[in-house]
Amino acid sequence: MAEENKNLRTPIVCVMGHVDHGKTTLLDQIRGTAIVKGEAGAITQHIGATEVPIDVIVEKCGDKRLADKFIVPGLLFIDTPGHHAFTTLRSRGGSLADLAIVVVDINEGFKPQTIESLNILKRFKTPFIVVTNKIDRILNWKSHPGESFLSTYKKQTPEVQGIFEQKFYDVIGHLYEQGFSADRFDRVTDFQKTLGVVPISGLTGEGIPDVLMVLLGLAQRFLESSLHYDVNGPGVGTVLEVKEEKGLGTTVDVILYDGSLQKGDTIVIGCLGEPIVTKVRALLKPRELSEIRYESKFQPIPKVTAAAGVKISAPDIGDALAGAPVIQATPETLDEVIEKVKSEIDDVQIQTDTD
Ligand code: GDP
Repeated sequence: MAEENKNLRTPIVCVMGHVDHGKTTLLDQIRGTAIVKGEAGAITQHIGATEVPIDVIVEKCGDKRLADKFIVPGLLFIDTPGHHAFTTLRSRGGSLADLAIVVVDINEGFKPQTIESLNILKRFKTPFIVVTNKIDRILNWKSHPGESFLSTYKKQTPEVQGIFEQKFYDVIGHLYEQGFSADRFDRVTDFQKTLGVVPISGLTGEGIPDVLMVLLGLAQRFLESSLHYDVNGPGVGTVLEVKEEKGLGTTVDVILYDGSLQKGDTIVIGCLGEPIVTKVRALLKPRELSEIRYESKFQPIPKVTAAAGVKISAPDIGDALAGAPVIQATPETLDEVIEKVKSEIDDVQIQTDTD
């Protein structure tokens, strides 16, 4: 690993697509991937997001040589799917998500929210992949849980492969209609020109190793410059949710995408009026399942480094706004940070629906 690349942060990934096409199931499958490894103690639990570390991805893909090929530490999936989450969660005027997955049910094809998702990603210029989900529902498909797509595909009969091809190329056709040149991920030579499409089953996990691998490849190719960050720089993040918690009062769940944050730090949070200036009383992460005997679901941590999902407990944060910026300040930078938060808040859309 090259010295200058050591501080690339984890890319943030958002899942989008039409209702019932399998966004939640895909995220559950990915979370399962992460938790299996967690039993060996390697996973970090996050608030509002799931991190899949690079070693888990490499293990899933069964090729250890890949570990040296990738210079990002893993992938951080936002647990809330949908384009509402994508557009509400802003960072520096763009989307908080560095990458996206558009889920299309291979048996249903394109639907209105599929097209909406594609249009949003075009507008934000976010690199993304499409997954054609529910391949296990293709007539007579034999599932091979957790295997790569090509591995399971080769084990299907020619008839089943034929049905698959027809449905798959229908989706590719729809993508052309929307202005995208697209092809099956393993046939794409230049992801800048051609959109990669990965056939999967969120239910059986078929194709999931490919999804993780293609996302890493995209991050590596298109995001390297935007993933550089300063581990010791001021913490910068976006409010995911404002939540009342028993025993803690109002808390904000934050996705930190730059720098780091410590207990006691001064932070500025965006709201509809003057930005909130407050001090971090506690930084909290979910407790491991094995520690369930504790009364609180959360465990205090002294420090958090991007990219990460964390719950912040602090006084006077009731007016904080989902999608608003959170920036750490020092006495020297406070005025400047307040101005910055004020100017960024103009971009924030207030959360009004529930997808
Ligand atoms: P969302 O609305 O996009 O989040 O969709 P869900 O993940 O809630 O899935 C909608 C329904 O489709 C649920 O009943 C899932 O169990 C089912 N489903 C999702 N993915 C798959 C899949 O890959 N195969 C099959 N057979 N069913 C799936």
